[in-house]
Amino acid sequence: MDHKEAIEPKETPAENPDRCRENLEKAIAEVKKVLPGMTLLENEPMSEHSSFKIGGPARALAVPEDVISLSRLCSVLKDHHIAPMMLGNGTNILFPDEGLDRLFLVSTEKLTKMFLLPDGAIYAEAGVSLSKLASFARQNELAGLEFASGIPGTVGGGTIMNAGAYGGELKDVIESVVCLYAPDQRLYELSNEQCAFSYRTSLFKKLGGCLIVSVVFRLEKGDGEVIAAKMRELNERRRDKQPLDLPSAGSAFKRPEGYFAAALIDEVGLKGYTVGGAQVSEKHAGFVVNVGGATSHDVYDLMMHVRNTVWREKGVQLEPEIIILPPDYKLEDNGPAVRRNLITVTELPEDEGGVPQ
Ligand SMILES: Cc1cc2nc3c(=O)[nH]c(=O)nc-3n(C[C@H](O)[C@H](O)[C@H](O)COP(=O)(O)OP(=O)(O)OC[C@H]3O[C@@H](n4cnc5c(N)ncnc54)[C@H](O)[C@@H]3O)c2cc1C
Repeated sequence: MDHKEAIEPKETPAENPDRCRENLEKAIAEVKKVLPGMTLLENEPMSEHSSFKIGGPARALAVPEDVISLSRLCSVLKDHHIAPMMLGNGTNILFPDEGLDRLFLVSTEKLTKMFLLPDGAIYAEAGVSLSKLASFARQNELAGLEFASGIPGTVGGGTIMNAGAYGGELKDVIESVVCLYAPDQRLYELSNEQCAFSYRTSLFKKLGGCLIVSVVFRLEKGDGEVIAAKMRELNERRRDKQPLDLPSAGSAFKRPEGYFAAALIDEVGLKGYTVGGAQVSEKHAGFVVNVGGATSHDVYDLMMHVRNTVWREKGVQLEPEIIILPPDYKLEDNGPAVRRNLITVTELPEDEGGVPQ
């Protein structure tokens, strides 16, 4: 729990898809044998676990009861060279329609312990929703998390993404993070500085293989009424401006420096632009919404078109905020390489204008 040394990247073993599938099947069989009480969903439709309501079946999705069973699960997976992908509320991920037959997902749904520490900080496990965390802070007259009360993710997902809104970011209130590093199976406690947070990213996102277990939040003493009023105001602003009635994964693109993604998309005339069931929201051009039956390909093609058009007409490069998983996405216990096979919308085809260097 108290290892504070830096997490060292490891070498990447050569890739072999058949071996990866074989390892996964062996790992699933072993999990069933060694951890019979653990909820293990096989070929689970990811559309059920995604705020976009998109995604085919994932080969395995386990739901550990607590941190100890999470750690035992990871150790079984490690024996079979599998690193799990953590799943919070699925509010920032585009899952592929084809499914994920090479991936073992672990949901933090049941990791929901939260309490006040003797020194007044809040301890929250990874699966606590940000709205519950913000309410808990308000009940205890602690200010600083008002901005987070309307973000639909979890503590774990929010920390890796350094979620933020209305001028606040989780990095402003995180004191320390405990993560299980899949490649060496050790727990690390990192201070705020060691987490290397910046706009919508963190050490955990850059490195991969880090499973966030719990987070300590350091807040200021405040007035419960004032905190509640601020939360109401921000949530009203959210309801007024954002298409909360339609499935989405929040802002599709990060804010490019010096610009607003939504304004750029609006200016190039793409508000309401539709591909299949995916649409640039009529209410907020920064959101891509599922207006009915959208596929992951619809969303991807739409995001490519938006990105290409904004680059061509405005000379600004948009980078996706949503995590886009390709069908062959997999995680092996090779540390920093685990995120290499993520699709990004950053490589434009030659005929669409090229990428600014
Ligand atoms: C309507 C709407 C509004 C939104 N508004 C905002 C906003 O204002 N600001 C903002 O920043 N975001 C916003 N989002 C995006 C999203 O809610 C945040 O990024 C959120 O922090 C993601 O949390 P999650 O639990 O859903 O993560 P998931 O979507 O489940 O996962 C996101 C990433 O985090 C990883 N992850 C999840 N849990 C863990 C863990 N315990 N350990 C390691 N990795 C983990 C996953 O593997 C994945 O890579 C919005 C989304 C929606 C749908």
